[in-house]
Amino acid sequence: MISFPFFLPSKASGETLSIASDNDTSEKKTVAHVALPVPLDRCFDYKIRPDQSPVVGGRVRVGFGRQQLIGVVIRLSNFSDFSFDKLKPLTQVLDQTPLWPNSLYSLLKWSSEYYQYPFGDTLANAMPAWLRKGKAASFETLREWHLTELGKNQNISALTRAPKQAKVLSLLHLCSQPHEQLLSQQISSATLKTLQTKGWVEERQVQKQQQCWHSEFNVTEDKPQLNEEQAIAVASVNANPEFACYLLDGVTGSGKTEVYLNLIEPVLKKGQQALVLVPEIGLTPQTINRFKRRFNVPVETIHSGLNDTERLNAWLSAKEQHAGIIIGTRSALFTPFKQLGIIIVDEEHDASYKQQDSMRYHARDLAVMRANLDNIPIILGSATPALETLHNAKTGKYHHLTLTRRAGHAKPEKHGVLDVKGLYLESGLSAPMIAQMRKHLTEGNQVILFLNRRGYSPALMCHECGWMAECQRCDAYYTFHQHSSEIRCHHCGSQQPIMHQCHGCGSTQLISVGVGTEQLESQLNQLFPEYKTIRIDRDSTRRKGSLESYLESIKRGEYQILIGTQMLAKGHHFPNVTLVGLIDVDSSLFSSDFRAPERLAQLFIQVAGRAGRASKAGEVLLQTHHPEHQLLQSLLHKGYGEFATTALIERKQAMLPPYTFLTLFRAEANNNQLVEEFLRQIRGVLENNPVYDQYTLVLGPTPAPLAKRAGKYRWQLLLQAPNRKVMQTLLRSAKPAIQLLPLAKSIRWSIDIEPQDLS
Ligand code: ADP
Ligand code: ZN
Ligand code: ZN
Repeated sequence: MISFPFFLPSKASGETLSIASDNDTSEKKTVAHVALPVPLDRCFDYKIRPDQSPVVGGRVRVGFGRQQLIGVVIRLSNFSDFSFDKLKPLTQVLDQTPLWPNSLYSLLKWSSEYYQYPFGDTLANAMPAWLRKGKAASFETLREWHLTELGKNQNISALTRAPKQAKVLSLLHLCSQPHEQLLSQQISSATLKTLQTKGWVEERQVQKQQQCWHSEFNVTEDKPQLNEEQAIAVASVNANPEFACYLLDGVTGSGKTEVYLNLIEPVLKKGQQALVLVPEIGLTPQTINRFKRRFNVPVETIHSGLNDTERLNAWLSAKEQHAGIIIGTRSALFTPFKQLGIIIVDEEHDASYKQQDSMRYHARDLAVMRANLDNIPIILGSATPALETLHNAKTGKYHHLTLTRRAGHAKPEKHGVLDVKGLYLESGLSAPMIAQMRKHLTEGNQVILFLNRRGYSPALMCHECGWMAECQRCDAYYTFHQHSSEIRCHHCGSQQPIMHQCHGCGSTQLISVGVGTEQLESQLNQLFPEYKTIRIDRDSTRRKGSLESYLESIKRGEYQILIGTQMLAKGHHFPNVTLVGLIDVDSSLFSSDFRAPERLAQLFIQVAGRAGRASKAGEVLLQTHHPEHQLLQSLLHKGYGEFATTALIERKQAMLPPYTFLTLFRAEANNNQLVEEFLRQIRGVLENNPVYDQYTLVLGPTPAPLAKRAGKYRWQLLLQAPNRKVMQTLLRSAKPAIQLLPLAKSIRWSIDIEPQDLS
């Protein structure tokens, strides 16, 4: 039996952790306790009218002050702390059955407590927008228009005085049309009504087709024969259909996806469903197609690009078991399933699994909790596992499965360090790098350069007096964007046309400092006019769908030189890329964030995996002023595993996660002193708590790394505890006292449990 890595908070006072037990009652209750989407850690009581039958886990509409809100019933009883006569009745009962299955509801309850986020808000965030707005939790019915027999017999050419009606009739002669479709063709509802009154057309409600895939389940493509390591991995997981967490630690291209597919197969065969989580950028058509090609089951995707109707339909497909596989980003974790059989978290180390606002949950960690509650296996896959995950594997909490060889015939890549000390850099490029690029390009291959800085250059400076263009609202310099002739603040988004005179001395000698992707691009166009260069960053891929189309043209070989920020490092396979260059490694080696070395190592391994995936051998080159740096040395010569071991020892010595647990309090306001004072008071609350002892530590308050953003001053306070239990106990008893601090109302503040980003 594997012990679960999380500390489970106890059942909250009086509230249910189980919907079923609460709804299973023959006695009619009179009070509904409702969680509302308001930032308060409490529920609200409403009277149940005799004709109403709310259910725990179902939505109700209620009056709240002067507004009507939609909330979720979390308990039914015959008692209220308030006088019964004062209670308002429920305005409307929206659901006859709970929105979530029992185990998912428990997970939501658990998340709300663990991440210190109000339950009402947690539930609201876990619903598709349409449900939050009160729509029925059933598939959108489609309204379709058909011709009646009478309509079919009309002579359309006789309708010259009613061209709109004639248009409708001729459209419907071809085939019946959905209501929305007709509206989009400039046909008004009034025209349709007129035709309906004449009895020429009729409206029908169509339900989304009920599909039943599990009786006809099939594998629909030839599968490769698994190699020995893959076969062992598959067999280990299949040996036990109950909860267990597996780390699938496999080098890039070792066939992790093939293992996922082989694990999903028996699950689908049993009629159960699979949830596959991918990083934000990983949800490309290639990924989805691999799952679609393999099985004849409906595959649905859930990600931020869906509109509200698509999102509700995907959510319902999983809940009603129309979908066999759901592939989605972070938030897909909260999808209800009728019969979930397995969870897969691909690229589990990816930072996009951590939500950075509202409930700051970690989808990978919650996925483990969900698998535990559902009692099913979960697989965390990565070529560069997070140090936390590796630690759990090393201590036996997770099973450690490894794939050490690239599947197929890919050759391993070569890598090297370019010492650029004292070398002239042309927009960041050293002469040896340029020479190496030329070699690969002449051989007909593609080259990728990584630079994690968008824009033309990170700053604009006066050559005469050293003045630098600085954002008025943030503690940061403007980034110079030559392409659009403006300077932009990457922190608050403010922008202005580029100035022509220094604001310090009036000189016109303004120069750009440092190198961004835009500058690199224009430099490469000059250096290699005979090759086509493309830049993939947040600026160049703003338009929806543009990233996908760029990736396709790269694959078709339309571009030879690719410039990317880390966007390009994840999960994309470019078989013709044989050279990968990391232009500026030093900024990560010397960062104040303790996770920066881990992130650099992950980026390096991930991009190295992009090179030479087909039969061509790849080469990775790093430009640095510090070739002797310990981290680079261990990474280059011994690989990620060895690097991780060393890094874990360092973390232990420094008492950093995963050996301790952190919580970050962030606060911001217009008044600098008040923010600091507020965090100092929080510090006082924590230190006076009985749980606080010599093993717990508060650091700060300190100004945030970006001390001012969009006019607001930002401070932070870091709390460190030896384990989750102490952290949770401390936070739970301290939070009510913090909320009572007078400043808590006027200052924007948040609690980030196990923060991934300390800025
Ligand atoms: P990863 O997810 O670890 O990066 P993939 O699953 O994408 O690796 O596999 C890399 C390539 O190797 C893919 O083209 C895949 O089809 C192929 N592949 C995977 N497993 C095998 C196998 N057992 N035999 C042959 N080819 C395989
Ligand atoms: Zn700014
Ligand atoms: Zn000047």
